Amino acid sequence: DIRFDGKTAIVTGAASGIGLAIARELAESGARVLLADLDMAKTTAAARAIGHDALAIAADVSDAHQVARMVDAAVTRTGGLHLLVNNAGIGGPLAPLGEYPLDGWHRVIDVNLHGVFYGMRHAIPAMKASGAGGAIVNISSILGTVGFAGASAYVAAKHALLGLTRAAALDHAADKIRVNAVGPAFIHTPLVEAALDADTRKALEGMHALKRMGTPEEVSSLVCYLLSDRAAFVTGSYHLVDGGYTAQ
Ligand code: NAD
Repeated sequence: DIRFDGKTAIVTGAASGIGLAIARELAESGARVLLADLDMAKTTAAARAIGHDALAIAADVSDAHQVARMVDAAVTRTGGLHLLVNNAGIGGPLAPLGEYPLDGWHRVIDVNLHGVFYGMRHAIPAMKASGAGGAIVNISSILGTVGFAGASAYVAAKHALLGLTRAAALDHAADKIRVNAVGPAFIHTPLVEAALDADTRKALEGMHALKRMGTPEEVSSLVCYLLSDRAAFVTGSYHLVDGGYTAQ
């Protein structure tokens, strides 16, 4: 079994879906977890439901000051920081690029790209100060390597995360901080549920070789492997959990 005893982890976007599953698996595997999300009441309820002394903080990852405060909270409340999962993300508007709403473009880039930069920018010095190195996983998507009609901002941000992951891994290998990206295909979460009617959902299920969507837990098991010492030689790379979507 993978264990994270003595480690502190931050998971962003942890009140729902994939982030919630990751926070739960980390906590059940011995980590002290700080759940960060937009809504304090929802995040506190999620931390309570997880148990294992999980903590909650309200933080909008698109605001560098709030991200700095999030990292400070992890360090002051637990004594250090070792693991970070940059999971918070939004789908944004669906529209052809020639009609793409400018405010929607900026919001998606602010959350899905700038939010990940801010997370690493503030967590890495704290990981270095903790003295034991660290591990970071950035949640990209299959749309980090292939396109999807109408989703230019999301596709651009998720592609950019692969470059950002490689850059961070090279810059901090000497600090014993590993950085990897994960690319899920369609995962059954509130984000997908909100965006799709039943027919579209059926069609999307059929686009995976395994003819279904994944579960948040199936993403979490890959993320926890990458965060663990079992992945000690894995850094700067992109790992799919996509039911064969991109193999076709
Ligand atoms: P979700 O909507 O269920 O959960 C996302 C959480 O992030 C929500 O609780 C939301 O409040 C939070 N969040 C949104 N903006 C935030 C911000 N600015 N600051 C802090 N928190 C914020 O979504 P999910 O499906 O679990 O997605 C999680 C991640 O996985 C996202 O990065 C998404 O792009 C990625 N992803 C999802 C799928 C999928 O099919 N569900 C596929 C590939 C990648």
